Amino acid sequence: MNTSRDDQQLQTEWYRVSSRLKAEIGDTAFENWVKPISVSGLEGSEVRLGVPSRFMRDWVKANYLDRLKELWAGENENVHSVQVRIVPKSKVQASEETGQDDQPAETAPGPAPATGWSAGSDISAPLDSRFIFSKFVVGKPNEFAYAAARRVAEAPSVPFNPLFLYGGVGLGKTHLMNAIAWEIQQRDPTRTVMYLSAEKFMYRFVRALREQNTVDFKDQFRSVDVLMIDDVQFIGGRDATQEEFFHTFNALVDQGRQIILSADKSPSDLEGVEERLKSRLNCGLVADIHATTYELRLAILESKAEQIEIDAPQKVLEFLAHKITSNVRELEGALNRVAAHTQLIGRELTLETTQEVLHDLLRANDRRVTIEEIQKRVAEHFNIRVSDMHSARRARSVARPRQVAMYLAKQLTSRSLPEIGRKFGGRDHTTVMHAVKKVDELRDHDSTFAEDVELLRRMLEG
Ligand code: ADP
Ligand code: MG
Repeated sequence: MNTSRDDQQLQTEWYRVSSRLKAEIGDTAFENWVKPISVSGLEGSEVRLGVPSRFMRDWVKANYLDRLKELWAGENENVHSVQVRIVPKSKVQASEETGQDDQPAETAPGPAPATGWSAGSDISAPLDSRFIFSKFVVGKPNEFAYAAARRVAEAPSVPFNPLFLYGGVGLGKTHLMNAIAWEIQQRDPTRTVMYLSAEKFMYRFVRALREQNTVDFKDQFRSVDVLMIDDVQFIGGRDATQEEFFHTFNALVDQGRQIILSADKSPSDLEGVEERLKSRLNCGLVADIHATTYELRLAILESKAEQIEIDAPQKVLEFLAHKITSNVRELEGALNRVAAHTQLIGRELTLETTQEVLHDLLRANDRRVTIEEIQKRVAEHFNIRVSDMHSARRARSVARPRQVAMYLAKQLTSRSLPEIGRKFGGRDHTTVMHAVKKVDELRDHDSTFAEDVELLRRMLEG
């Protein structure tokens, strides 16, 4: 059994290893494959990692194991190997939360009343008592999504169908999804809620096909009161799964069951998704979670600091809210890291220690802006689709924002003109050059426009 100190050390190492890996493989792959990994412990020189499924284990082993080993050895020279095992998810959460590895904490949902979860008990993901409404900090960027989420969770009937929540990585989609499921169960344990990731949905479906068991599969999904699927962007491009999803979706809507979905893009921007499905997804309420503002980040930090019971000076929190602008997950990670570090070393939590502990993360945040992010923010700002950044449309309403995005890409990244052109639907470098000139000109003559650009620049720089 690990002492909690060793455990914390291990968690700190894992934090560093996974942050590095994230920088190498990108956010999406990280979200899918690395984030679900939990650290079970250290046995001799072997680190034991847990993942929730065989599918994931195989994938992680095939793609990331060697790199994980290297990175870990870089953090702790005593580590010589890394093993990945399947750990049922409820166990992972229980041990993370309470430090025990058997029963879920008292506040956790537990194995649910026989009625409530019967339909999907083996498929539905266990709920997490940390991700509930009362622990979600509401601010301008997420108030609409929050209100919509509360509404579906509290309404006795179906207020809008589907509810489609979307937003960038780490902005609270899963938190809200979990909170909805939790709230519905609290209010009426007889309602069957099935909550799972799109990946799991696909995995189940593929397995059902293989085992020639699709009838059961369909019945399972179609007999629930509330179907919730997280990260539906992963359904794109897989025709059979999409087809099945579409039918399940229609069947449930026809029966007046509630469907709640989340994704990292709006329905219209989902890639590889058929038009008829997109328009179906657009039928209910679409609510987006915007990138965080400084105020929201600070409020979240204050709330988290209270939750983990650390006495963080306001200055430190303000510093973090200024510097870690990417998303809430990183923000939380940074706070945890500083807290763990100061507790471990027994040092006072000051601005200096914070800068010291987080120097790599702070550096990464400094040069984080990517062309994709610029395109996304600019599209949001001007209310156009991200896909219009790549499209051939020349209407001023899309051409101008596209030029602004090119301009900002030139200003804020180290990419060359041809590289930037390529990222904008394969345009020529002269087009980018022209855009930069045009935006410069406009800035000189139109102060509102200049302010817009300036605002975007500041937002992107954090
Ligand atoms: P997503 O699913 O959008 O990638 P998550 O829901 O997993 O993001 O959120 C990442 C982390 O940030 C979680 O620990 C979550 O609790 C936290 N978080 C995000 N938004 C908020 C918020 N508004 N208030 C409190 N915690 C938040
Ligand atoms: Mg999520």
